[in-house]
Amino acid sequence: MGFIGKGLFEGMVVTARNFVGSYFDKERLVTVQYPEERVQVPENSRTFPFLVFDKDSDPVASMRCVACKICEVECPPQCIYIVMDRDEKGKPQQRPKVFDIDISVCMQCQICVEVCPFDAIKMDNNYEKSQYGRFDELVEHLPELLKSNEFYNKIKPTEATAVDAKLKADAEKKAKKAAPAAKPAATAAKPAAPAAPKPAPVAAPTAKIAIPDDAPFTPEQRQWLSGYLSTVAASGVAPAAAAPVAGTPAAPATEAPAGNWPWHDPGLGMQRRLDLAKETPIADKLMAAMAQTDCHACGYDCRGYADAIATGAETDLSLCLPGEAETANMLKKLMQEAGKL
Ligand code: SF4
Ligand code: SF4
Repeated sequence: MGFIGKGLFEGMVVTARNFVGSYFDKERLVTVQYPEERVQVPENSRTFPFLVFDKDSDPVASMRCVACKICEVECPPQCIYIVMDRDEKGKPQQRPKVFDIDISVCMQCQICVEVCPFDAIKMDNNYEKSQYGRFDELVEHLPELLKSNEFYNKIKPTEATAVDAKLKADAEKKAKKAAPAAKPAATAAKPAAPAAPKPAPVAAPTAKIAIPDDAPFTPEQRQWLSGYLSTVAASGVAPAAAAPVAGTPAAPATEAPAGNWPWHDPGLGMQRRLDLAKETPIADKLMAAMAQTDCHACGYDCRGYADAIATGAETDLSLCLPGEAETANMLKKLMQEAGKL
């Protein structure tokens, strides 16, 4: 039976029951004396992202992030900013030099966590982030973002245990894959072998051969040719059997020497990279179309993925996540132009 103010009366009864009950039952005391007391937040609560590292002794070297920028690209409000680290020669390192997250923009959606192929970024549950300033104070930089795997296990034990198990299984799989390659060496090391003729001493690596500035080549061709001749001289392979100089006539096409890939720079745009690989074999052109981050999101490094596509061992052209649709489309175009698709 209803009467006017019934709901209000029922509400007051609940309040009164809790008020009186709180003198007898601690469970009914729901007020938390913050900041002296803090509630334990549930494991699946989330606030802002942090970066995981594995070794307390060297957080920077052991961080899982390889600066592939997938999270930067995928973040809906674009609040992540990453710059890849480089060594003194300008060679890209597989870690960020700058990793900033603007937490005044972050909408805590966790998409960065979902897309990271390396379990390098996770959601924190620290809600005490208030600041007096509104600008740089609300941008978190690499040193603040780095937190240990131990911390991750502490705040999210269930999730972190599953991630640890997955990473361990991946590492074991990788080690197993690498094992057959080591076998022949071990067999070769067995004693029993009859006295074989002494192998010729291996030539010491020769000095880098430099092509003179007035030689009739473009700077890229000069750089390529220097690397090529240095490699040939060091390996003792007759030049006639090896790769051609980009842009020079009549030599059979083979890949550029390992490491001598002027397009292998994530700072260059797609068109520039393709221009640098213009006169090279299809595998190099395919490599130039990759994002050049060597992030292994595709299951290879950039060189490996390009070679696998060129040889037909890999048919999926959409595996370069940081390169997104631009890379996938270009790989398709290059394969079509080469008559391989
Ligand atoms: S996706 Fe992961 S590995 Fe790549 S930049 Fe972001 S946090 Fe680092
Ligand atoms: S949680 Fe969402 S908004 Fe925040 S950094 Fe990650 S992707 Fe961007």
